[in-house]
Amino acid sequence: MLVNLVEILKMAEERKSAAGAFNTPNLECIHAVLHAAERLNVPVIISHAELHEPAAPLAEIGPVMVEAAKHAKVPVCVHLDHCETFSYMQQALDIGFTGVMYDGSVLPYEENLANTRKAVAMVKHYNCGVEAELGALASREGGASSGGPVYTDPDQAEAFCRETGIDALAPSFGTAHGIYKSRPVLDLDRVKTIAEKTGLPLVMHGGSGVSPEDYRAGIRNGLRKINYYSYMARAGVNAVRELLEKEDVTFFHDLALAAEKAMEADAEKAMRVFAGM
Ligand SMILES: [Zn+2]
Repeated sequence: MLVNLVEILKMAEERKSAAGAFNTPNLECIHAVLHAAERLNVPVIISHAELHEPAAPLAEIGPVMVEAAKHAKVPVCVHLDHCETFSYMQQALDIGFTGVMYDGSVLPYEENLANTRKAVAMVKHYNCGVEAELGALASREGGASSGGPVYTDPDQAEAFCRETGIDALAPSFGTAHGIYKSRPVLDLDRVKTIAEKTGLPLVMHGGSGVSPEDYRAGIRNGLRKINYYSYMARAGVNAVRELLEKEDVTFFHDLALAAEKAMEADAEKAMRVFAGM
């Protein structure tokens, strides 16, 4: 069942849980995430990020994601992750995406504010919610460095949310994209303060690789969407490597299926924690 970002975050709020948001740049990822969500009977978000464009163009994978969401037995939001250009956002809206993240976090504050307002105005006539980012994570999506983290200021977050009319905010509080080299230290008090000041559901980026304790504490403090991808994707790689070491595989589809099963198991484990199971 296809639902929008506002609806799925409301479900998370009612359950005092967080919806997992998983990037799905191929059919194996889509299957892995939706099958895990259906088995646990939890709402879920599947996302497309522009960095996956070379392997999975939005124009091709987008309609597949929307179609899969419509046929799923659980509520599914189809979300555009880290969008920086309005033409790309429009493309997603036309395909039927029900959530978009406008990411102006590298821009000067006033510019981020103006562009985020524009994004909110753009989705008005669509069944779609808007997430935006304020502050900067330690690493950009795809691993490029942004020059160190800038933690989100709670007062600025309050003004930003009020003036833009967004539906969800991604603050910076110590997570980073990709695989962690050391255990991340999260400022969860900051999350709580920002949640109280903005009254909005908050989003954790760089969510895979965080400890279950930190997930639970973060959810208690107001996180309602957790972006999770790198560790799931790595689980797929590990499964393929193990299979190749064990067997003489002829067909690529057997590798893809092994990766899918491993990613499904990893996604399910994450979803259990996010749902408080
Ligand atoms: Zn992100």
